[in-house]
Amino acid sequence: MRNALFFALSLFYCLNLTAQTGAPGYDITCWTNGNTASDLESVPVKFARGKVNALTPFELTFSENVPEAAEASIRFAADIWSSYLQSNVPVRVNIDWRDQGDENLLASAGPSTIYRAFAGSIDNDVWYPVALAEAIFGEDLNDTDEADINVVVNSTANWNFDTEGTVPRNRIDLATVALHELGHGLGFLSSIDSTSDTTVSIGFDDRFIIYDLFLETPPGRSLTDSTLFTSPSKELLAAVIERLDFAGENAVRENGGELVPLFAPQTFDVGSSVSHLDERTFRTGTTNALMTPSIANGEAVRDPGPITLGILEDLGWPLRYDISATQPVIAGRLGIYPNPARSSFTLPLEEVLSPSVAVLYAMDGREVRRLDVSRQRVAAQFDVTGLPPGLYTLYVPDGNRAFSARVMVR
Ligand SMILES: [Zn+2]
Repeated sequence: MRNALFFALSLFYCLNLTAQTGAPGYDITCWTNGNTASDLESVPVKFARGKVNALTPFELTFSENVPEAAEASIRFAADIWSSYLQSNVPVRVNIDWRDQGDENLLASAGPSTIYRAFAGSIDNDVWYPVALAEAIFGEDLNDTDEADINVVVNSTANWNFDTEGTVPRNRIDLATVALHELGHGLGFLSSIDSTSDTTVSIGFDDRFIIYDLFLETPPGRSLTDSTLFTSPSKELLAAVIERLDFAGENAVRENGGELVPLFAPQTFDVGSSVSHLDERTFRTGTTNALMTPSIANGEAVRDPGPITLGILEDLGWPLRYDISATQPVIAGRLGIYPNPARSSFTLPLEEVLSPSVAVLYAMDGREVRRLDVSRQRVAAQFDVTGLPPGLYTLYVPDGNRAFSARVMVR
């Protein structure tokens, strides 16, 4: 189904490598395991309404049949992502609410389109989900009336809409499921798909999606290594039904230096295998349980958890880990130029009331350079010579607030 849709619409794009290229996206399906969570005391509930410090705007469009109480719960989930993701480009989400014919199927979600060959992508031949592509590119790529992420919620599941109290033991927490589904739409998904009973394929149009690049099966064999795996093939199927890991450096760091086990059941599960964390490793009630393939009755996960954030960071999402900071951040107002920068950029300071310092961070959160701007009033020159090309985040604290901007170094 995913491939059928993909190929039907793939006629619309051409092989122009200088301009960015788009193609239709696809969905991941997510289920309940029917179990009831027994130990919820250990679930960290970090967020309470009104305390979240939003960075990335999320624009949610609800279809008419979404109940009002459900809307609040889905907004709550979007606010949590918004507090971690550091992008100026709004993430537009369409949410539909309908009978999926099976109450154990909770929801499905995915990027509405995928893009490649835009400025900032690691390779012209790698696909990115549109929301991530736009965050890296720094501007909208699709039409502004077009969704970036589509979420379909099953209307017949036994939902809990409340985001404050504990989840009743016979109900499924909608905020948890919405947080999970948005995670898929933001890029937590592989292109691996079933092609027959004995083979699976990877990639679309002979090109991988960014998440695929980090897939590894022991001993250290990358699924995107064409000398080891052809697509579609039996070897590829064997690799995704044994032990499969996510090997990105940020995810591994957040997993204490270990590769991150992904969901790779003995029978390939179309639309679920590979695109989730391993359920047995990341059990219900633990910090990293959000992106496991199923959720239990009474389970609440109100934070992506460090491993999922590490995965998104590996994919290229500009992130802020320390969301406990109360300092409001004003993104994208400074008007840095030129951007991308080659040897230096101009940092206008007119908006900054009390300039003191400007700090440049790499995508992994490391500080790479800082400049004293306490004597400048109008503008400062920030030198970037010697820095590796890529995307950086600039912070300019200003009293009890801070300005931030993304800077591309060429
Ligand atoms: Zn899922």
